Amino acid sequence: MNDNQDRHSVRKIVLPSGRSIEVVRFETEESPPRNLHICLACDSELVQPVSWQEAPGQRWELTLECPNCGWSEDGTYEHEQVNRLEEKLDEGLADMLADLQRLAEANMADEIDRFATALEADLILPEDF
Ligand SMILES: [Zn+2]
Repeated sequence: MNDNQDRHSVRKIVLPSGRSIEVVRFETEESPPRNLHICLACDSELVQPVSWQEAPGQRWELTLECPNCGWSEDGTYEHEQVNRLEEKLDEGLADMLADLQRLAEANMADEIDRFATALEADLILPEDF
């Protein structure tokens, strides 16, 4: 079909049992690269790279890990795939920061409520300051 031997990826898959297998995949133009942020084991969308290094041909060698089920994978991925993973991570980070922000505001509101209640009940005395 084609003689381009470099268009394949070797993926080491560590199964939850701890056993690891190597999967050699020949890539064709037809198969779109998969989304790296999605766990192959549990479909969680929280897969994170735990280590990465540049590989020849604008590719990246990544170790991916799923925080949900512990699945992990070592592989070499296309630049494009890694870019999309980064975008996903950025979104995830933005979501997390937004959550933290909301949490901080909620805590603050709680504090203010307690403070107001204490004031009304005359529980706060000058020596508290
Ligand atoms: Zn998973």
